[in-house]
Amino acid sequence: MQAYLDNAATTKIDPEVFQVMSRALMEYYGNPSSSHALGRTAKGKMEQARKKVAQLFNASAMEIVFTSGATESNNLAIQSVLNSGKITQVITTDIEHHAVLDTIEFYCHQKKIKLSKVKLDEQGNVDLEDLALLLKEEATSFVSLMHANNEIGNLLPIEKVASLCMEYGAVFHCDTVQTIGHYVYDLQKMNIDFITCSAHKIHGPKGVGFLYVNKKNKLNPLFLGGNQERGVRAGTENVAAIMGLATALEIAYQGLEENEQNISLCRQQLMNDLKTHLPGVVFNGNTGDSLSTILNVELPTKKATDVVLFQLDLKGVCVSGGSACSSGSLKGSHVLSAFKKNLQNCNLRLSISRYTTQEEISYAVECLKEVADN
Ligand code: PLP
Repeated sequence: MQAYLDNAATTKIDPEVFQVMSRALMEYYGNPSSSHALGRTAKGKMEQARKKVAQLFNASAMEIVFTSGATESNNLAIQSVLNSGKITQVITTDIEHHAVLDTIEFYCHQKKIKLSKVKLDEQGNVDLEDLALLLKEEATSFVSLMHANNEIGNLLPIEKVASLCMEYGAVFHCDTVQTIGHYVYDLQKMNIDFITCSAHKIHGPKGVGFLYVNKKNKLNPLFLGGNQERGVRAGTENVAAIMGLATALEIAYQGLEENEQNISLCRQQLMNDLKTHLPGVVFNGNTGDSLSTILNVELPTKKATDVVLFQLDLKGVCVSGGSACSSGSLKGSHVLSAFKKNLQNCNLRLSISRYTTQEEISYAVECLKEVADN
């Protein structure tokens, strides 16, 4: 038996996405920049995908830039705004993904821009009053706050933050990697400047994503050497992956309600079973207002996270100690340590997808109990 509860790190590809991509690899292999028929066909397929993506977010096609994933999308947006010379303060939190935090720290240091961190409460929620105070302090701020935290699942009240940013004339970038496919965005109505997407979090392929750039913003390229993506992202486009991304998004939004029901049931079962079989378990973060796919738990054991992960792995249970990108780092979770007092030995992130079954949940809890007790 196996249990895959690491869907916040990456998800299994949807068979329909795979079909679309394998056909594209065989048939639409022309370079979209070539003027001959094969090139034009590939370009046509890519532009169809862009239109599809734009429609799903009520954006216009010219606002969608295809990238290699969310790390690149975040870098592209952040460097573009911070290199513009117009920003005097960057506002973020200590619990952002490293693709945002490290990039912001790098450009703030290089450009000598003031960096302010919004306060968090004891559950890791962003303090909106503190955000408003910070926004009041400087006339030209760049706000980067993630929609759902990838380790604890806490949700940001995105509409309220967007309104605050509008009130104070701030640029708003939101890392929406974990919420895309689970939350409906109407980008014509929301005051958001940038959102980011990664296909492999929604049963699409790895190495592809997009950056939404509200048309009032001018984007400066991160890569030079080609006119692809209207000159803002040089490099031959990965047409098959882009088609896979669009298909994965379409499937996610078509099945949104049904999938969310199943995911919520699995999460509820996970919480109930953990409470029953592992008394003393603690749920980290704000479980009351959280993304349904993520549950972060403190296990009642003296064992360290790495030991527990290893023992679970031997039993075929895939979970993680935090974000996949930080595994291998000895520092532990920067997210939990940013708000949690008395951090204990073993904290795990369990994450669900539409493919998760109740059997997997039961098996994972059985193994968690065995590992925690022995
Ligand atoms: N932002 C968040 C919130 C994530 O969870 C991830 C992936 O772990 C990323 C950014 C980076 O995405 P990608 O793997 O597409 O570079």
